[in-house]
Amino acid sequence: MAVSFDLRRRLQVHGIVQGVGFRPWVYGLAYQFGLSGYVLNSTLGVTIEVEGDEVGQLAFVAELKANPPVLAIVDEIVEELLPPNGFTGFTIRESHYDTAGFALVPPDIATCPECLTDLRDPANRRFGYPFTNCTNCGPRYSIIQDIPYDRPLTTMSEFPMCAECDAEYHDPADRRFHAQPNACPVCGPWVELWNHSGVLARGKDAITETRGLLAAGKVLAIKGLGGFHLACDAANETAVLTLRQRKRRTDKPFALMVENLDAATRICILADADRAALTSIRRPIVLLPRLDDAPLANAIAPGLNWLGVMLPYTPLHHLLFNGAEYNALVMTSANLSEEPIAARNDEVAPRLHPLADFILLHNRTIHARVDDSVVRTFEGKERLLRRSRGFAPQPVDLRVPVGEVLACGGELKNTLCLTKDHYAILSQHIGDLENRETMQVFEDTLHHMQRFFRVAPKLIAHDLHPQYLTTRFALAIPDIPRLAVQHHHAHIAACMAENRITGPVIGLAFDGTGYGTDGRIWGGEIFIADFTGFERAAHFRYVPLAGGDAAVRQPWRSALAYLLDAGVAPGPLLNQVPPQQLAIVRKMLDAHVNTVDCCSCGRLFDAVAAILGIRLESNYEGQAAMELEGIAEDTESPYPFDFDGDTLDFRETVRAIARDAATPGLAAGRFHRTLAAAAAESARRLRKATRLNRVCLSGGSFQNVRLLRQTLELLRRDGFEAYTHSLVPANDGGLCLGQAMIANHALTRL
Ligand code: ZN
Ligand code: ZN
Ligand code: FE
Repeated sequence: MAVSFDLRRRLQVHGIVQGVGFRPWVYGLAYQFGLSGYVLNSTLGVTIEVEGDEVGQLAFVAELKANPPVLAIVDEIVEELLPPNGFTGFTIRESHYDTAGFALVPPDIATCPECLTDLRDPANRRFGYPFTNCTNCGPRYSIIQDIPYDRPLTTMSEFPMCAECDAEYHDPADRRFHAQPNACPVCGPWVELWNHSGVLARGKDAITETRGLLAAGKVLAIKGLGGFHLACDAANETAVLTLRQRKRRTDKPFALMVENLDAATRICILADADRAALTSIRRPIVLLPRLDDAPLANAIAPGLNWLGVMLPYTPLHHLLFNGAEYNALVMTSANLSEEPIAARNDEVAPRLHPLADFILLHNRTIHARVDDSVVRTFEGKERLLRRSRGFAPQPVDLRVPVGEVLACGGELKNTLCLTKDHYAILSQHIGDLENRETMQVFEDTLHHMQRFFRVAPKLIAHDLHPQYLTTRFALAIPDIPRLAVQHHHAHIAACMAENRITGPVIGLAFDGTGYGTDGRIWGGEIFIADFTGFERAAHFRYVPLAGGDAAVRQPWRSALAYLLDAGVAPGPLLNQVPPQQLAIVRKMLDAHVNTVDCCSCGRLFDAVAAILGIRLESNYEGQAAMELEGIAEDTESPYPFDFDGDTLDFRETVRAIARDAATPGLAAGRFHRTLAAAAAESARRLRKATRLNRVCLSGGSFQNVRLLRQTLELLRRDGFEAYTHSLVPANDGGLCLGQAMIANHALTRL
């Protein structure tokens, strides 16, 4: 074989190729095809040089394109042919880029099929071992303390590898080559079952006993990948109710875990896209239509016709279902409502003992708390509702160079974002920043991410709302310029960014609430926007709301305000509300005392749900709107509405809904049609005025799939290019991406 006559190939690989096990994989591939050369991380991806047999080189390049590691996204490979260099062997080179300290950190990945086979094979040394993992799967972000991503800088450093694990780790032909969390029963972490006074069992026995306790209706705290779950048999009404009471969570649906797709089909209806989402390496919770006769406790998801379901994503989860008597487990974050998920063993006594009868612990430390991600599929694609485990901190590839900024996100469903190179790196879901504990997690996450990604922000973006804890946090940082970004501008910018649109666009932000530039509460917004600014072309009609946060918890307050505004006597419609309370709020509205003007789509949803008798009090954010979506019947006909100057006026709609209150399903259906029609009419008017044809849909109300589908249908029928979200949530979990893009454009003007 005349190797020396073959040329050398330099390959620039662009895309998400760092922090995804790409270099060890390339190493293995070169080894497989007998090629010499090197691989290294470079500023915009990975650089590879190979020489050797031409046929081998071609096969190597074909494999690069066809079968990259599961988390890698290869956008483009630029090839260059050069004279041979006489490399001896193949090496993973440390680049200058690495020593500058920027590498991407991989997300946590569900157990791969090969590891599952090891787990289930009685002849394998990892049979029944709950921490089995390899290069293709296992914990990553949750255990990494610093970069470079190497075992000594993970929480696995406490567990020196045994000789067998060490041999696997150093063998390029082995699946566990450079698998940093590699472990086995001899050298790795283990599980223990505890009651409130001490250890009951260890290792395999602990898991067997756990299955028995769950089957017997006990509530257990189970330490997982990114935190503790509270678990119980989802078919056991008493167990589920006990869990609700202890967690002080009234109606908010509990997520479920089932062993496999078969078990999922016993409780839900699955489309192909749902199957793909459930079995993806990221293993999110997938929202699925519930079967009417699903064998589940009523208290799982009261009032909703869908369920949040996930499949096992760690070996421990798989073992919990091994021969178990239950079909589905409740797997909800172990915390009291509104608090961060518990993750540390020293939190067990103070935080978990009141919640759980028993605790299944392990001694692998969780460095970063990561909640489960939540998706819903739409038009065959995943749409993220909560971007967390399995996704964070994998960046959104912006495909344009960006500076270094920090975007603090919003108040509810908070995430934060750092930008660098051509990446927007979003944190995991942090939660509702309404208390000290969650704010501490925000700060920890920021420091953690800044250390990983070596970002020194030149600008800090925060929400315009003066009272948000993130705003106060941003304002307390000395010496770095800050930028206040209007909430709905950030929503639209987030939608533009993930669709790689530079603007300008027609932006429709149908949302809960966000602080407006006029100091009033916005949330039914029709913008002309790009990353440099926005013009508020139109908005929903302002209605006074009484009692701030109370209005969010009590949809009947919105109903009263909208009915009075539309000139409808509220009496008979709101006769379930205690008359005294109704009278007080009415007085406040009449006198404009303790009221705030609001034009939020979310509050309009609340009002309609209350007028139709669906829900007068909400126990969690968005409950009324979700239930309204759930009962809505199919219909083609919208209600009338007015578009007067810059105001979308739904008083006529509200009057019609009040008349139709006896048929709530149909009225809810027509209400959805009305909003879709109003969205399309707004877009048409703006197109006429501006000739813009691109429409971005964002804001929490577009999590409503019925509204989204109908709006998209109308826009597409009219020839608009309509864009929405899939990579980041349409809700406030996506705000930080928009803030970051707006901040980056402001950077250039500093
Ligand atoms: Zn694996
Ligand atoms: Zn070992
Ligand atoms: Fe919002």
